[in-house]
Amino acid sequence: MNKGLIRILDAAPVAMVVSHPDGSFEYVNPAMLQMLGYTEDEIYQKEVTISPPDEWASNQVIREQLKTSPFTPITIEKRYVHKSGRIIPGLLTIVALPDAKGDVERLIAQIVDLSQRKKEEESLWLLTLLLNNAHDAIYVADPLSGGILECNRLGHERLGYTHDEMLRMNVTDINKSLSVETSWQEMVEKTKAGDNIRESIHTHKDGSSFPVEASVSYVTKGDKGYMISVIRDITVRKKNEAIIWKQANFDPLTELPNRRLLQDRLKQEIKKAQRSKQRIAVLYLDLDRFKEVNDSLGHPKGDVLLVETAKRLKSCVRDSDTLARQGGDEFAIILGELGEKNHVERVVKDILTKLSEPFQLGDDRVYVSASIGICFYPDDGATPESLFKGADLAMYSAKDQGRNCFRYFTPSMHQAAITRIGLVRDLREALERNQFHLVYQPVVDLTTGEIHNAEALLRWQHPEQGILYPLEFITIAEETKLIADIGSWVFHQAVRQILNWRQNHDPDFKISINTSPIQYRDSKEEMKRWIPYLQEQGLPGQALAIEITEGVLMDSHTGITEQLIHFHAAGIDVVLDDFGTGYSSLAHLKKFDVDYIKIDRTFIKDLTVNPDDLVLCEAIVAMAHKLGIKVIAEGIETPEQREILKTAGCDYGQGYLFSKPVTATEFEQLLSQKEQT
Ligand code: C2E
Ligand code: MG
Ligand code: MG
Repeated sequence: MNKGLIRILDAAPVAMVVSHPDGSFEYVNPAMLQMLGYTEDEIYQKEVTISPPDEWASNQVIREQLKTSPFTPITIEKRYVHKSGRIIPGLLTIVALPDAKGDVERLIAQIVDLSQRKKEEESLWLLTLLLNNAHDAIYVADPLSGGILECNRLGHERLGYTHDEMLRMNVTDINKSLSVETSWQEMVEKTKAGDNIRESIHTHKDGSSFPVEASVSYVTKGDKGYMISVIRDITVRKKNEAIIWKQANFDPLTELPNRRLLQDRLKQEIKKAQRSKQRIAVLYLDLDRFKEVNDSLGHPKGDVLLVETAKRLKSCVRDSDTLARQGGDEFAIILGELGEKNHVERVVKDILTKLSEPFQLGDDRVYVSASIGICFYPDDGATPESLFKGADLAMYSAKDQGRNCFRYFTPSMHQAAITRIGLVRDLREALERNQFHLVYQPVVDLTTGEIHNAEALLRWQHPEQGILYPLEFITIAEETKLIADIGSWVFHQAVRQILNWRQNHDPDFKISINTSPIQYRDSKEEMKRWIPYLQEQGLPGQALAIEITEGVLMDSHTGITEQLIHFHAAGIDVVLDDFGTGYSSLAHLKKFDVDYIKIDRTFIKDLTVNPDDLVLCEAIVAMAHKLGIKVIAEGIETPEQREILKTAGCDYGQGYLFSKPVTATEFEQLLSQKEQT
């Protein structure tokens, strides 16, 4: 072989080999040795094979080719075996060299090692596989123009485009909120500055859009930059977030904002009002006697009532106002951007009118009213807490004023609230410190004028404020549940008095005591021990009467019915007090075996001047007598009232005309007078 040729082949960076027609090597260059891992001595050994045994197919092709046109170079991919056994992919170019006669003298071949390239091809393929199977859409875009340079499969499929279509598009076609000139450039700058995560909206080919989270990065190669965006479809997450947000901020029953959202809204309104120097009104609204409806008609109907109330309230306020459900039957309204206070009055009157219309709950038609408290920002308070508190106090004041009305917050309400806190504290100690006593008022037989029995009425000798009347503390005692213990004290005190008077004055004497609905719900079941206690004292049930208010009858609490039946069965009279002020019906009276009804003082007061009241009293008496119920009229102050009631057929009377409530000693004098006559 030509020396010059050998020198070139020796220096060539590509594997070269010269072989004889029989296949034996004539020359193998260093690059070839290096590629296959043999030394020069080893490679010429006969046993060395550099072609793997299963490579016969390509070998066959080469043989055929060399047979037909040996002097035309052929190029073919072929595999080789490294000395270690490792397979090396290679690209073989081979040609025969002729001798002087034109026969094949030797073959010269060049083999390019394809290992590196194959590896690169494979990793590129894997990379594509990875990208196309990713659950995120991935884009590479030109930071200057916003043109899309490349994307993975999801990148075009999710948007409804083909890959080719996608590569002709611009990021602004996908993300409509971007414009090429400004926003895209801003986004590129932000990304360069390290602001990499953002949420936006992507638009599908069909025009629909969906929320995405983009994680963006800016990379450079040489002096060229690329924007890479990994885009995640967050439709489901957003939906879930919306559900969670709704659950956290809205009342499921009425779909109104709840207490929490109300707080937020008021905070925002205050900020707005600070800027615009305008007023806000905060309204608290509580349905009057909702509990009675709920208890008597059942919770499902109570729910319907609340939903209907919410609807009516909504129709009274503007869309920009906030109407919220505070819980139970309490609603709150924020009226923002108020110019003048008058507007509030219009809204409130509208509300009271709309709520006064009857509610149809299935077959039942009910009437409810509402008590509303109003508080103004900045006049009455500067923080949400103080405004809510103010509206709440004003609402309670409206309730105290007889319901179905509204009250504006005044600082004196705040003072009253503080006083109340003091009263609660004192009430807790009143029993231990022996500050209660009972006074007694006679109930008189209207035909004979004789004392029929006594009603025991509670008095509290307050250490600083002097005598306090039930109206000043019973509600607090009920709210704090202290009424259970107080009621028990009243019972035992009254029993002691009955024993005394039965022994000393009248062996059949009877005292009636007032009871609160709360006592019937008492978990200690104190009332269950009353009948056995009377028996222990040797007293029949007839020695005691229990006065209940209509609130007790309306309470669906099962224990109440049972307890009243027990009382009645033991001979204890059940008296329905303050009749006519509540919601009870004839059906109730029958169901609960009421023995007496006491016509409320408000009907007696104007008896002589208001013919309607007379008609009512006559009707009540007639109806009660038909049911076998006796009637007591309370609050009789004048002989005229007594006469009218007597004529109307009323059985008993009670009131200042006969006697004010008096101490036990004073009452004994009344009894003695009776004995003397
Ligand atoms: P009530 O059971 O309807 O008692 C009648 C109230 O009317 C008593 O007020 C009595 O002093 C008053 N009164 C009686 N005759 C006349 C009259 O001719 N004219 C006027 N203007 N008033 C008259 P008092 O003692 O302030 O009691 C108020 C309410 O407090 C009672 O109304 C009763 O519901 C409740 N109460 C009183 N004692 C107790 C008690 O021991 N336990 C419970 N739970 N409530 C009680
Ligand atoms: Mg009473
Ligand atoms: Mg009464």
